Order: sequence, then structure tokens, then C-alpha cells
Amino acid sequence: MAQSRKKVLVLGAGYAGLQTVTKLQKQLSKEDAEITLINKNDYHYEATWLHEASAGTLSYEDALYPVESVLDKDKVNFVKAEVKKIDRNAQKVETDAGVFDYDILVVGLGFESETFGIDGMKDHAFQIENILTSRKLSRHIEDKFANYASSKEKDDKDIAILVGGAGFTGIEFLGELTERIPELCNKYGVEQSRVHITCVEAAPKMLPQFSDELVNHAVSFLEDRGVEFKIATPIVAANEKGFVVEVDGKKEQLEANTVVWAAGVRGNHIMDDAFDGVKRGRIVNNQDLTIKGHDEIFVIGDCSAFIPEGEERPLPTTAQIAMQQGETVAQSIYNILHGEPTVPFNYVDRGTVCSLGSHDGVGVVYGRDIKGKKAAFMKKVIDTRAVFKLGGVGLAFKKGKF
Ligand code: FAD
Ligand code: NAD
Repeated sequence: MAQSRKKVLVLGAGYAGLQTVTKLQKQLSKEDAEITLINKNDYHYEATWLHEASAGTLSYEDALYPVESVLDKDKVNFVKAEVKKIDRNAQKVETDAGVFDYDILVVGLGFESETFGIDGMKDHAFQIENILTSRKLSRHIEDKFANYASSKEKDDKDIAILVGGAGFTGIEFLGELTERIPELCNKYGVEQSRVHITCVEAAPKMLPQFSDELVNHAVSFLEDRGVEFKIATPIVAANEKGFVVEVDGKKEQLEANTVVWAAGVRGNHIMDDAFDGVKRGRIVNNQDLTIKGHDEIFVIGDCSAFIPEGEERPLPTTAQIAMQQGETVAQSIYNILHGEPTVPFNYVDRGTVCSLGSHDGVGVVYGRDIKGKKAAFMKKVIDTRAVFKLGGVGLAFKKGKF
């Protein structure tokens, strides 16, 4: 009986992979399948909280928990390993801890920072990419304040921060900075008026998904707390001094000792060689989240570019979508194992909230605009719900935001 068990291999313990596995372990019995989850760390981190861990308003330890703490070890075998290669023809996955074969593969390897080949960006700017890059960034910001405070000849660039991109990540990070900077000024005796935070955005309008009223609320909130915006200002290079921007054909050097690239993400680079038709680490799925020519491979979360039936553009990359995809794939795997057809993915858009620190925000929830404290409250509900969905009531009590 054990020999006939199908091997289900899940790559990545982010929102997509962990949601797949936690749902599968509820639905399946031990005899139904041999489920293995591979992740490069033995912890799951809340990628949706990286702006907080990056600014230092949340300690990085609070944004993670052990993967195994949410697994039923009788049903799921967890392996801490880094995936190196997916060989779809041989149905094998190579990792730094050995080779794994599978009957059904779920790829949920998530996102990486995308610098669009901009000269110097990888070497000279901090990226908000995973929990380790966030820890590095928050420590760097504090180090620069400490250095400024202890230096006889003070360098204002130590307390200048440049943020590239005013998408959701850039805006949420700026919101956290407006809470962190007063704390640091207090701790190191730095006059707050000397701190300079500049956000540089290429597009003429920020957060185009939101109404003008919501965008104006976010901009005024941040400007009132000292953030300067340079919009319609593309960054064309990064160097040891900061960003180089170009406006009306003229280049300008912006200087700061903390330089952060928050202007785009892509799917995992492992995807590029694994499958045909991958663009920036993402692949267009079939409606049931399998990929063309491979009804045994599901690709979900930020590695997928899912285009709903009848539409032309892929959905954005969000945790909300990654988790819903995980649930759909778990149902499809259950069906396959029980001789039933897979199910199509139907995205339910519950809305989006962009935080502005812990007490303010802007968003659209079930089609209605919200802002201020209401939005901040909703953001905490959303964050806590995600923890609850993966780890149940116990984890929600430990890690939830109330
Ligand atoms: P990930 O969360 O990236 O998880 C991928 C997992 O795979 C990780 O555990 C990683 O360690 C592991 N992994 C990667 N490479 C390997 C490898 N080679 N071998 C083994 N394991 C590997 N979305 C929302 O819906 N709401 C929000 O409020 C929100 N806020 C955000 C805030 C910030 C600052 C950022 C950056 C993003 C935010 N997002 C938000 C987007 C959201 O975080 C992503 O869409 C989501 O994390 C994608 O989930 P995933 O499971 O596909 O990938
Ligand atoms: P994004 O692509 O949404 O935004 C990047 C921003 O950087 C854009 O405004 C773009 O115009 C700008 N930009 C790009 N190149 C630039 C350049 N050379 N110079 C200056 N500006 C430049 O990326 P993101 O904000 O990292 O978001 C990634 C994904 O994660 C999105 O799908 C987003 O919805 C999701 N996310 C969601 C939330 C939330 O729901 N609260 C928070 C963060 C991220």
C-alpha cells in the first residue's frame, strides 16, 4: 500500500506553499500520499511584514516562525534545503540536500527583487527581498544614526535615506520610517529636522490602483512627517553616493548613506531555466494553475502569472492571491488522488490595504475606499487572518497583531 502512494513535492514554505500543505494535511490521510515540503530556511517569514522588519518597527524574529510548528509531521515530511534546479522531464528536483522525485510538483518559490538591469543597483542599494535583507537594512539605518551621533564631524548623509519606488512596498516602508525615525532621533539625540527622507518614483502618479483621494491622503500623511517625493523621476543608476536620476535628459546625483530599492519584484530565478515561456521568473498558468504540457506541475504565488479566463493581463503578485491559489491546488491534488478532475482557480478580490505606519493607511475593501485608522485596523485584521489561516488560533495568538 505504501509503495502506491503518490509523491507530492511542494517547493517553498511561503504563503503559497504553506497554504497548499496545511490544507492538504487536513484533507488527506497518511495513506493517500507522501507529501514533502522543501524550503531553504527552517522558518516561514511573513513577507507582507518586510517593510516593518526593514524599518525596524518590528523585530525580524517577530516576523517568522518554524515551518514545522504548523505541520502535521505524520503526514508531511519537511526538508530544509535550497532548490537548485527543477528537471521537469526527469520529474526530479535538485537541492543542496539531495535529489527528490515526484508524481505531483507544486512550485511556490516566491519573489526576488527586480532591478531591471539598472547599473549599480544590486551592489549599492538595499533590497526588501526576504527577512535577512530586511534585518540587514534595519540594522544599517540604526548604525548610521549611531555613527552620526558619535562623530565629531557630522555627515548629514548618515541620516539621509533614499527610497526608490512609490509602489506599495515603497509607501509602506516610508510609513514605517515615519515611526522609526523619531525613535532613533530620541535614542541618539539627533535633531529630527536634519533627517532627510526622499522617495523617488518614475511614474507621474503613485499607487495608480487607488483613487486620487486615497493617494492624496497617503502623500499628505507622509509629507507631513518629513518625506519628500520626487515623482516622474526615473532612477537610472546607483553608485556609492546614492541614486542617479534623469529628468528632461539631465542627470542628477542624489546622495544618502542609506539607499533602498523598493521598485519592483520578479519571480524566483530558478524558474528561468526550469520551464519554457518564463518572463521575469513568472509563467502563465492554465486555468487550474498547472502549466502548459505538464498536468503534474502546479506553479503558484509570485512565480505564476495567472490570467483569469476572458482577461488579458495577469493578476498582480500578492499574498492574498498566493494563499487562494494554495487552497485551490490542495483541492486539485486531493481530486487527482481520488480520480476526480482538477478545479479552476477563481480569484476572490477582498481588497487591498496599504499601511502608513501602524496607525494609518489607505485601501479598498470589498470595493469601498477606506483611509486613516479604519484602514490601519483592517490591515491588522488582514495580517492576523493570514497567520490564522496557516497556523490556526494558537499561532494567531502568538503572532497576530492585536
Ligand atoms: P514568498 O512569500 O516569497 O515565499 C517563497 C518561499 O520560498 C520562502 O519561504 C523562501 O525562503 C523560499 N525559497 C525561495 N527560494 C528557494 C529555494 N531556492 N529553495 C528553497 N526555498 C526557497 N501581499 C498582500 O497580499 N498583502 C500585503 O499586505 C502585502 N504586503 C507586502 C509588503 C512587502 C514589503 C512586500 C515586499 C510584499 C508584500 N505583499 C503583500 C506581496 C506578498 O508578500 C507576496 O505576493 C507573497 O509573499 C508571495 O507569496 P509566495 O508564497 O509566492 O512567495
Ligand atoms: P510595484 O511594481 O508595484 O511598484 C514599483 C514602483 O516603482 C512603481 O511605482 C514604479 O513606477 C516604480 N519604479 C520602477 N522603476 C523605477 C525607476 N527606475 N525609478 C523610480 N521608480 C521606479 O512593486 P512593489 O511595490 O514592490 O509591489 C510588488 C507586489 O507586491 C505588487 O503586486 C504589490 O501589489 C504587492 N504588495 C502589496 C502590498 C499590500 O497589499 N499592502 C504591499 C507591498 C507589496
